[in-house]
Amino acid sequence: MNEERLWAPWRLGYVTGNEETAGPLPEPNGWLADADHNCFLCRAAASYNPDTLADKRLLVADRGDHSLVVLNRYPYNNGHLLISPRRHVGDLWQMNREEHVECVELLARLTRVYRECLNADGFNIGLNLGRAAGAGLPGHLHWHLVPRWAGDNNFMPVLAGTRVIPQSLEALWELLVGALGK
Ligand SMILES: [Zn+2]
Repeated sequence: MNEERLWAPWRLGYVTGNEETAGPLPEPNGWLADADHNCFLCRAAASYNPDTLADKRLLVADRGDHSLVVLNRYPYNNGHLLISPRRHVGDLWQMNREEHVECVELLARLTRVYRECLNADGFNIGLNLGRAAGAGLPGHLHWHLVPRWAGDNNFMPVLAGTRVIPQSLEALWELLVGALGK
């Protein structure tokens, strides 16, 4: 795919100097054991004290005991999420039972939230295991959850090679934190 993405809302935070979304990401003061300090999912799984907007800056929508929900900074479509175990593991067999259960339960919950809050018509859910399969972060496995709407893949991408991402990441983050916190 060679699509350009029109993504004005997200860039606006940088352009306007919004302090909540601009600048370097916060440094954690509690990495998990065996965390890879260069891995953005490990950074999201780390602890922050005091929590100076860390979750919002890192786009973490939810943290379970064993799992994470993070917004994809470079979404394929509006609402694109990454669901992962907190531990830095790259293969399914390295996950323990609690991690498996939590991740699948999160996927189920998120599809319900998206159907109710964003009127999603369907979903693509997938896992790229290993670089050969297209994983951009092969050391820390994660499911991609991409909500779909009837007709969302015609017109703009076909005509212009351009996909429109209508909702800003900040707005999506706030929606998810509200919905998942219920
Ligand atoms: Zn990691």
